[in-house]
Amino acid sequence: MVLDDLGSSLRGTMDSLRGKSRIDEDDVQEVVKQIQRSLLSADVDVDLVMELSDSIKTRALEEEPPGGTTARDHVLKIVYEEMVDLIGESTEIPLEEQTIMLAGLQGSGKTTTAAKMAWWFSKKGLRPAVIQTDTFRPGAYDQAKQMSENAEVEFYGDPDNDDPVDIAREGLEATADADVRIVDTAGRHALEDDLIEEIEQIDDAVDPDRSLLVLDAAIGQGAKEQARQFEESIGIDGVVITKLDGTAKGGGALTAVNETGSSIAFLGAGETVQDIERFEPNGFISRLLG
Ligand code: GDP
Repeated sequence: MVLDDLGSSLRGTMDSLRGKSRIDEDDVQEVVKQIQRSLLSADVDVDLVMELSDSIKTRALEEEPPGGTTARDHVLKIVYEEMVDLIGESTEIPLEEQTIMLAGLQGSGKTTTAAKMAWWFSKKGLRPAVIQTDTFRPGAYDQAKQMSENAEVEFYGDPDNDDPVDIAREGLEATADADVRIVDTAGRHALEDDLIEEIEQIDDAVDPDRSLLVLDAAIGQGAKEQARQFEESIGIDGVVITKLDGTAKGGGALTAVNETGSSIAFLGAGETVQDIERFEPNGFISRLLG
């Protein structure tokens, strides 16, 4: 039942509508207010929240519940459909030969995600390889190598080479036998010109089938500018939200999804290679609505 997927606080509001045969403007307003409160505290962008509120209000007041549906279930269905519309379905990740590039700021969780995704693909019966091109962050090579070992997947990196484009090229050659090549790139503390330039060069050399933007769940409004820049420079096909094992609910990532016209591909919730799952809207909606 849809209701099970909605957050507990919203469920409370919905319960107060139980038994009503008609739902008036005040009732809808109350539901929408509750949704707004939850989404804003989950870091969802205020414009997105307003858009969603308007659609829910309009539909809840204008659409007649189909015969046999209670007014409450009708509103519930509208809320759910509009939330799915906002959040989107999971990014399509075909189980076939491909090259995936990861982009994002330093500390967002790219290296960890690269190993996690490789582990995920290996569990799906494919042969993945991680290619580490991050020559900027000290320790990135060792970390990626160690995590790839933990995931029991092939790894390519070159600690003696400081040219990421070169490493990317050689990495693709060295891992030619792999089905899925996951290319980890360097981040920076902020969006600096040299980061954009570097990732564009890697993008040209690698020509990935898909590029995923890795975002920390705690990202708030900063997501917008980041997403826009990465979208402009390399094109973003999907978003990975990391650190969902913390307190942040990851609503900021929706801004990135909106900005890039993409969707969410994976969720990361922990530091080990197994702590990854494919995104699915229901669980995420319930998390956002608290
Ligand atoms: P990068 O600079 O983007 O490559 O980021 P890293 O992969 O090195 O991650 C930065 C830090 O966040 C590391 O300490 C990771 O262990 C940690 N981290 C990454 N993903 C997660 C996650 O899903 N949950 C938690 N708790 N920590 C994570």
